[in-house]
Amino acid sequence: MPRLTLTFDNGPHPETTERVLRVLDERQLRATFFVVGDELARPGGRAVAERARAAGHWIGNHSMTHRVPLGLTAPGDDQVEVEIGAAQALLGDLAHPARLFRPFGGGGHLGPHLLSPSALAYLVDHRYTVVLWNSVPRDWEDPTGWVERARHDVADQEWTVLVLHDLPTGAMDNLAGFIDGELAAGVEIVQELPLECLPIRTGVIEGPTDHLVAG
Ligand SMILES: [Zn+2]
Repeated sequence: MPRLTLTFDNGPHPETTERVLRVLDERQLRATFFVVGDELARPGGRAVAERARAAGHWIGNHSMTHRVPLGLTAPGDDQVEVEIGAAQALLGDLAHPARLFRPFGGGGHLGPHLLSPSALAYLVDHRYTVVLWNSVPRDWEDPTGWVERARHDVADQEWTVLVLHDLPTGAMDNLAGFIDGELAAGVEIVQELPLECLPIRTGVIEGPTDHLVAG
């Protein structure tokens, strides 16, 4: 049976994250939330992230500002300390002990825009775990159609790490229906992450990274 790991990026958002938590809780499912530091610092952001953690979800770092992909920053204009380090400090004890970091950029495409050489070195030195993905159904631009693309990805892969967004786009209106359909189809929904989506684990390079780092 295919496996599915749910991840939610770019939040927290006080209302939408709360709704996602309700949907997951009703089904006794656990997920990972990759939060943006600036969103966490907004009113209501931290409270909902704390509820997520208390409910057993994992919280990861998705940068401080989510503005410029780390692989596209000009050398000498390195934002690593802020985008990774300060965001992690802001997370504080919300953060998963393995220091989960998900790079961003490019509408979900994997490529050398994701990390700079100094970002890679920083992640290794500070013992982060880099969490990639293998399904981006583009829920942010197609709040209804993402469900069908996600279903296809789950059916086509042994273990799908799905990237969704707990943002008020309307896409999360379809989360419960999507999950119930997958459960009815026998898909196993787990919190764990497949090793092939973790090229760096607590600072140790375990998989290929060349394709993720700017040359
Ligand atoms: Zn993102």
